[in-house]
Amino acid sequence: MNEDGFIPFHRPWIGQEEIDEVVAVLKSGWLTTGPRTRQFEEEFARYVGAPHALAVNSCTAGLHLALAALGVGPGDEVITSPMTFCSTVHVITHTGATPVLADIGEDGNIDPQSVEERITPRTRVLLPVHLAGLPCRMEQIWALAERHGLHVVEDAAHAVGARYQLRMLGSDPRSAAVAFSFYATKNITTAEGGMVTSHNAALAEGMRVLCLHGISKDAWNRYTDKGSWYYEVLEPGFKYNLSDLHAAVGLHQLRKLEGFLAERRKIVNYYNARFRDDDALEIPPDGAEPGHAWHLYVLRLRLERLRISRARFIEELKARGIGASVHFIPVPLHPAFRQLAAEPRNACPRALALYERIVSLPLYPGLGERRAERVADAVLEVAAMGRG
Ligand SMILES: *Cc1c(COP(=O)(O)O)cnc(C)c1O
Repeated sequence: MNEDGFIPFHRPWIGQEEIDEVVAVLKSGWLTTGPRTRQFEEEFARYVGAPHALAVNSCTAGLHLALAALGVGPGDEVITSPMTFCSTVHVITHTGATPVLADIGEDGNIDPQSVEERITPRTRVLLPVHLAGLPCRMEQIWALAERHGLHVVEDAAHAVGARYQLRMLGSDPRSAAVAFSFYATKNITTAEGGMVTSHNAALAEGMRVLCLHGISKDAWNRYTDKGSWYYEVLEPGFKYNLSDLHAAVGLHQLRKLEGFLAERRKIVNYYNARFRDDDALEIPPDGAEPGHAWHLYVLRLRLERLRISRARFIEELKARGIGASVHFIPVPLHPAFRQLAAEPRNACPRALALYERIVSLPLYPGLGERRAERVADAVLEVAAMGRG
C-alpha cells in the first residue's frame, strides 16, 4: 500500500506483539482452547463490564449459541434489522425460528417503533444490530422487551468498544447476551473469531456447554485436572470454540483497542470536516452521545443532487485508486430471503431507500493522514463530477 497505489477498503493492524504471542502458542504444546483463550475471555469480560464472556470462532456462532441456549426454536419469532449481514438472519433460521424484519430509523439502526409493530404472541427475542458501531436506541428496545416478556440479544459485530449512555456495550444486564466479531475487517481481529458476553450465569453456562459439542468438561479442564479422561455429552452441541492460536492475537488486539478507536475517530473527524459542506454528500449519523465505535464510515449520497448512481460513484472511486464498499445490501434483496421479503409485515422501505445512497469509505488505524486526504479528495472530485 504505497502512497501512489490503491488504497484498500480495509487493512488489519497487526503488531509484533501479536506475532510473538502466536509463535509462543505454536511452541507451547497447546494449540486449541486453553490458557490464552481463558485469559482473553477474562480480559474481555473486564473490558466490557460483563461477568461472563465466552470466546467463539465467530460472532455468528455467538449469536447462534445465545438463541439456542435461550431455547429459541420452531414456532418462535425473532425480530431483527434488514440492514445487517446475512448471518444475523441465518442464525435465527438455524434454530428453526422465524426471522421478522423491522424497518430502520434515520440513524440506520432498527427503529423501536417498527419493532413494536412487529411484536406478536410468538415473539421471543429482539435482535438489534449496532450498525457501523453506532449503538441502537437500547432504552426503547429494553422497555419493549420488558413489557412483552422478551429476551434481547445484541449483534455487536461492529461495536467492540462502543458506549451506550457512556457505559460499555455489554455492561447492561437487561440484554441476555451480546455478540462481538473479531473477523479480519472488524475493530479488533483474531482473523476469525468472536465473543459472546452475558450477565446471566445459567445462560453463560448453557452457551459454554453448547459451544463445545455439549460436553461437560473441555479438554483444557481435563488436562489441568491431571489428565482426567472422563466427560459426558449433555446435549447435542456445536463446534464453536476459539483456539489459543486465535486468542493469542486477540489478547494484544484488545489491549490496543482504545488506541484504535481514537485513530478511527480522528479519521472520521477529518472526513466530516471535508464532506460537511458538500451539498451532494451527507455525513454519517453520530448519535447524541460520544459512544460510537466507528467501525464504518458510511457516507450518504444526496442522489437528488447527483446525476450518477451509487454504483457509478464507487466505480469512479475505484478508478481513482480508492476501495469502497456497501453496508449492507438489505436482507430482503438477497435471493435466500425471497420468501421472507414477500411477507407484507417484513416491508422495510426505509432500509431499501437508504441502501441506494450509501458508500463505506476506508477507515482503519494505519490509514494515515495522507491516504485519508487522498480518499477525501477523490470523494469530492467524484461528487463534483456527478453534479455535472
Ligand atoms: C461481521 C458481521 C457478523 C458476523 O461476524 P462473524 O464474526 O464473521 O461471524 C454479524 N453481524 C454483522 C452486522 C456483521 O457485520
